[in-house]
Amino acid sequence: MASSQSFEVTVVGGGLGGLTAALALRHRGIRVTVLEQAPQLGEVGAGIQTAPNASRVLLGLGLREQLEAIHTEPQDQVRRRWKDGSVVGLTPLGAFCKDTYDAPYWHYHRADLHRVIMDACTDPEGPGPAVALHTSSRVAELDTSDPERPVAVTDDGTRYASDVLVGADGIRSRVRDLIGGEDTLVFSGEMAYRALIPGDLIAADPATRWLVDRFQSTIWYGPDRHLVHYMIRGGEYLNVVACVPCSDEVAEKWTAPASPGELAAAYPGWDDRVPAMLSKAKDDVTCFALHYRRRDPVWMDGRVALLGDACHAMLPYQAQGASQAMEDAAVLAEELGAVTRSGAEGALRRYVDRRAKHAGMVQDASLRNKTFYHYPDGPEQRERDAKLRNFTGESDL
Ligand code: FAD
Repeated sequence: MASSQSFEVTVVGGGLGGLTAALALRHRGIRVTVLEQAPQLGEVGAGIQTAPNASRVLLGLGLREQLEAIHTEPQDQVRRRWKDGSVVGLTPLGAFCKDTYDAPYWHYHRADLHRVIMDACTDPEGPGPAVALHTSSRVAELDTSDPERPVAVTDDGTRYASDVLVGADGIRSRVRDLIGGEDTLVFSGEMAYRALIPGDLIAADPATRWLVDRFQSTIWYGPDRHLVHYMIRGGEYLNVVACVPCSDEVAEKWTAPASPGELAAAYPGWDDRVPAMLSKAKDDVTCFALHYRRRDPVWMDGRVALLGDACHAMLPYQAQGASQAMEDAAVLAEELGAVTRSGAEGALRRYVDRRAKHAGMVQDASLRNKTFYHYPDGPEQRERDAKLRNFTGESDL
C-alpha cells in the first residue's frame, strides 16, 4: 500500500456517513478534519438497523467490542398483513446472517452508534492520526482556485485547505450545490413518525408482551401506509417508524413534533396489536417528511467528492441510507489509501465508479418499495403476498 501519511482530507458533515469516512481514512494513515455545522455532534433519538453489508464495514474498523456493547440482535424479519397481523413473510436474521454473510444484522440507538464511531475517530490510542472534529462550523463556500488544494470556507470565513474534500453533508448538501449538482430532490408525498416506546410498558401489557418475547424486525404492510418496529438497547425501547401519507404542515416544514394520540390514530382499522403498541408512545414523537434524490451523476468534481445522502439520498424503505454511506466510506478509504497525493483525483474517480451504480440500484429498490409495501387489498397485494410466502416459507408465528 502507498504511504498516505502526509495526505489530508476535509470531511464536511459529522453524521454517520461523514464520521465513518473519517474513521476509515484514519485507519489508512490519512489526516482528517471533520467540519460539522451543529454546535454538538450527535444523532436523532431513534433506532437504526445495519444489515450485514454495513456491519461488515463497522467491524472492519475494529469496532466489534464497542458494537457488541450497544447492539440488539433481531432473530428474524417478519412481514405482517395490516388487517389481521397474519405473517406473509419471514426471513431469518440472527445466526443466519452471521453464518451466511459472515456479518451480523444489528439494531442500535442512533446516538449510541454515532458515539461509538466518534469516540473511535478521536481515540488517542487508535490507528493513524486522530480525527480533528470542529463543531459550529458550517461550510458556506468552496475555493477551488488551486485545484490540488480545495478549501472549505465556513460561515465565519475560516478556511480549511486539504488534498481532498468530501461532502458528507446530507440530503440538502451545500457541497453538492457548490460543485454544480442539478436539482434532483423529490418529495415522496409521505412522512415518517418516529417514536421510542419504553420497553417496560410493552413488557407489562399482555397485549404487547409478544414484542419482547422474540426480538424481530417487523414490517406491517397496508393500503397507502406501512409500519416498522424493532427493539433497541436490549429491549429498553421499541423503535417505531410509521410511514403514512404526508400532511401539508409536515410537507412544508420537513419536520414537526407530533402527539402520541396522532400516531395511534394513524392506523384506523388495523389489527388490534397496532393500536395496543402505538398507544404506549410518550411525548417524543416526531414527524419527518420523506424526500429522496433521483439517481444523480454528480458525485465529484476534481478533488471534491460526495458521500452518503449528499449523493444518493433514498427513501428509508430498505433501511439502507446510512448503510450505503458506510459502504461509500470503506471504498473511499481503500482508494485514497492506495495512492499518494498526486493520485488523489484518480482515486476519487475509482471510488465513484465503484459506488455510484450500486448505490443507485439501492435508491431505485427503496423507491419501488413505496408501491410494493402499500398496495390496496386486491390482485397486486395478493400476488405480492404470495411471492413473499414462496420466498421465505410459511410461518405460524
Ligand atoms: P446526515 O446524517 O444527514 O449527516 C449530514 C451532516 O452534515 C449533519 O450532521 C449536518 O448537520 C451536517 N451538515 C449539513 N450541511 C453542512 C454544512 N454546510 N457544513 C457543515 N456541516 C453540515 N439508514 C440505514 O442504513 N438503516 C436504517 O435503519 C435507516 N432508517 C431510517 C429511518 C428513517 C425514518 C429515515 C428518515 C432514514 C433512515 N435511514 C436508515 C437513512 C439514514 O438515516 C441516512 O441515510 C443517513 O443518516 C445519512 O447519513 P449522512 O451522514 O450521509 O447524512
